[in-house]
Amino acid sequence: MKIEDQRRIMVEEQLQGRDITDERVLDAFRTVPRHEFVSEELQHFAYHDNPLGIGAGQTISQPYMVAKMLQLMCIQPTDTVLEIGTGSGYQTALLAELALQVYTIERVRSLGEEARRRLRRLKYDNISLKIGDGTYGWRETFSAAKGFDKIVIAAGAPHLPEMLLSQLNDPGIMVLPQGDKLQQTLLMVEKRDGELVETTHGMCNFVPLIGDDAWKN
Ligand code: SAH
Repeated sequence: MKIEDQRRIMVEEQLQGRDITDERVLDAFRTVPRHEFVSEELQHFAYHDNPLGIGAGQTISQPYMVAKMLQLMCIQPTDTVLEIGTGSGYQTALLAELALQVYTIERVRSLGEEARRRLRRLKYDNISLKIGDGTYGWRETFSAAKGFDKIVIAAGAPHLPEMLLSQLNDPGIMVLPQGDKLQQTLLMVEKRDGELVETTHGMCNFVPLIGDDAWKN
């Protein structure tokens, strides 16, 4: 089957067939070539309903899980977004389709460099990528006047990283898997009028968030 058909069917069956209804999110999935974000041997599986290995013990998340997080974030075309855990860069590309500007941080240098090359090749010009510990956020850009409208963590956090929360605008939305190393709850934290409202959105399994304000290894 042609790659384009595989991608269309992924959107119909795995996303629309479940509870993904946000048209902008669905369009982003119709656009971004997921097979470009995995190694050549895995390209046949790129549109399957599961996560895939990307090297360094890390994974590209299941399409549905990425869609669920993006839908919760209600991204507007004017939003500035911060992503922690670039991995392959797949979710970064989807964010770049939805938002004005995307900042993304990856801890593993080899993955970060590869994602940077890939996103450049695909001609994304609204992404800034850096290698480092994302639990500090993106302090160079952050000032009280200009934080992030949306923040997403693509790795399992033991608790809400405080520095990220302080870089979230009001109003703003942060989405993250929070729990132990093997299983987490998908958490949405909304900041509005100086208050935080937390809601949970089912169980998930992400690789651990490793850093100074997260798991130590
Ligand atoms: N969304 C990615 C999948 C990410 S997997 C994709 O679409 O491919 C989670 C990633 O988070 C891994 O690459 C891991 O190295 C990274 N990570 C873990 N802890 C981190 C930290 N403190 N800062 C930045 N990245 C981190």
